[in-house]
Amino acid sequence: MAVIPPRAGIIGWPVNHSRSPILHGYWLRKYAIAGSYERIPIAPENFAAEFRALAVQGYVGANITIPHKQSAMTCCDELDSNAQRLKAVNTIVIKDGRFYGSNTDGFGFMENLRQGAPDWKPHAGPVVIIGAGGAARAVIAALCDAGVKEIHLFNRTRARADQLASDLGGPIMTGDWTRLPRALSDCGLLVNCSSLGMAGQPPLEISLQALPPSAYVTDLVYTPLLTPLLIAAAARGNPTIDGLGMLLHQARPGFAAWFGIMPEVDDALRNLLLSDIENAKGN
Ligand code: NAP
Repeated sequence: MAVIPPRAGIIGWPVNHSRSPILHGYWLRKYAIAGSYERIPIAPENFAAEFRALAVQGYVGANITIPHKQSAMTCCDELDSNAQRLKAVNTIVIKDGRFYGSNTDGFGFMENLRQGAPDWKPHAGPVVIIGAGGAARAVIAALCDAGVKEIHLFNRTRARADQLASDLGGPIMTGDWTRLPRALSDCGLLVNCSSLGMAGQPPLEISLQALPPSAYVTDLVYTPLLTPLLIAAAARGNPTIDGLGMLLHQARPGFAAWFGIMPEVDDALRNLLLSDIENAKGN
């Protein structure tokens, strides 16, 4: 009997902009796997029916992007503890007609941090987080799991930060946006989880004067790769980690579940994505 190649893809609306097909396509070629990774546009009004129909179309799973991360959660049969805690699903596995939802953003963040800052330790001073959206939620949960003892969270809308802290529990202290520069004084890791600094958005302009020179600075924004925050931090000698690695690493668990190999993030993959980001600038 002929073996049907497994299908996976990225579900979103719109989904044309997604870079996931580039990176999964790279891994499929690298590991010589007979499978496919496709764009799967699903309009919000058809979501539940089209999502569940993937099970009879040869799909073994998918990534989920905007605006479906919450809808996917309600349409899964089972959620892992992380997806339950974050109330968002970015990866699904389909097996025997059942849908399993998980969230790999926190894994992607931690793996990028481990790769870019191998000597960073969870007890190396408080972590300061800027932003309280979905990405911040995943990053903070992962940092708490890693054993960080003190997290200072700042968001333009304070109430959203307070809500996040109350939902996740753990050692999270929120503060007024204006107090952010002072909170940097004993910080071991500064993370921008807001969209400030992204192409088309205002830059993140904060004084880094109080930041210890040894503190790591990382940005989830990766378009541009070198954000104003990373440029300012590097100029004063702080070690920096860009956000592209998080995008690459968060994709690995899904690929492993669908195609049976835990893929590596190597320089060729990173360069492929970088050239796509460069090309997009010219469009
Ligand atoms: P989100 O849920 O929409 O949250 C956006 C965050 O940015 C909120 O905290 C928001 O504050 C803040 N913000 C937006 N405009 C602002 C402004 N003018 N001044 C101050 N704060 C502002 O988005 P998200 O999903 O968390 O994503 C956040 C960023 O991370 C995006 O740039 C996204 O591309 C990036 N990201 C990267 C990766 C990766 O793999 N590297 C993964 C996920 C996300 P308010 O609450 O006050 O609105």
